[in-house]
Amino acid sequence: HAKAGGKNKYLFYSNDMDAAGVERLLLETDLRKALDRNELLFHYQPQVDTNTGTVVGVEALLRWQHPDQGMIPPFKFIPIAEEIGLIGELGSWGLREACRQLVELREEGYALPKIAVNVSALQFNRNFCAQVKAILQETGLPPSALELELTESIMMEDSHSTVKALQEFRGMGLRLSIDDFGTGYSSLSYLSRFPLDELKIDRSFVIDFDKSDNDASLVLAIIAMGRSLKLELVAEGVETHEQFHFLTDNGAEVIQGYLFSRPVTATELRPLLAPGYFLEQIREIRADSHE
Ligand code: C2E
Ligand code: MG
Ligand code: MG
Ligand code: MG
Repeated sequence: HAKAGGKNKYLFYSNDMDAAGVERLLLETDLRKALDRNELLFHYQPQVDTNTGTVVGVEALLRWQHPDQGMIPPFKFIPIAEEIGLIGELGSWGLREACRQLVELREEGYALPKIAVNVSALQFNRNFCAQVKAILQETGLPPSALELELTESIMMEDSHSTVKALQEFRGMGLRLSIDDFGTGYSSLSYLSRFPLDELKIDRSFVIDFDKSDNDASLVLAIIAMGRSLKLELVAEGVETHEQFHFLTDNGAEVIQGYLFSRPVTATELRPLLAPGYFLEQIREIRADSHE
């Protein structure tokens, strides 16, 4: 019957689908095979402490090396993975791969403090804690070197089990970061209710702060809030000297953005991990403001 159903589905689609729908169906079919075919990989983007010029963390960002279509960015396939129930499998692969990669770097002598992995709200089910625990044990990465980037959609649940899971992670020593802060619909109060370590200032606020007084005010408000709640801050999507000055002058001192590096392969990342690698560039940026 599954076969007949599949056939009907196909007939239905073939009559009604536009080109985008067809492309999407093809992607969906390929995505189901992508894991087995080793087509998924991470690029890593440095998070730079602007006081020392040293990379203090990297964010693991998923890529799909499609055999025909080349590199596919996450916004094109993560939502599909979520819809077709593949995100759990994809997510646990990602966690294992990120932990494995950091262990490998550390064994080579790189002193990278942490790796951050994005977690979809749909991964956050009953098994998730056990899964993370197993992956840490299996790879041998200390929990404090793994950071989970959560979005407001997870916080919004505000269920007893969510809080319990986050507290369990905290108890294990994992780091919890709130990603894309301010872009969702949730209330501010969860910031104090949930056991978070870090707040990421979203790129959308950083990007237009010099063109929009509102965005500048928002960035300042987010920084003030983060500080009063004793959260570490990471500013995301920093591309220009102006953005660098505005953020660092106002207390956001860890920066992730194209200004320092795009997300890169593990091979390209290695040289960037030398202590103080970005210090000279930061000195030049600082000198630039006094011209
Ligand atoms: P995100 O977690 O907010 O990641 C930051 C995004 O901003 C990344 O896009 C990064 O490449 C981009 N970015 C960083 N600095 C700059 C900059 O200076 N300029 C510009 N224009 N962009 C910058 P990317 O890699 O395309 O990822 C997009 C989103 O896909 C991520 O947003 C995250 O929500 C999701 N994602 C990526 N990897 C994973 C994953 O493994 N699991 C899940 N569930 N989601 C993922
Ligand atoms: Mg993120
Ligand atoms: Mg983000
Ligand atoms: Mg973002």
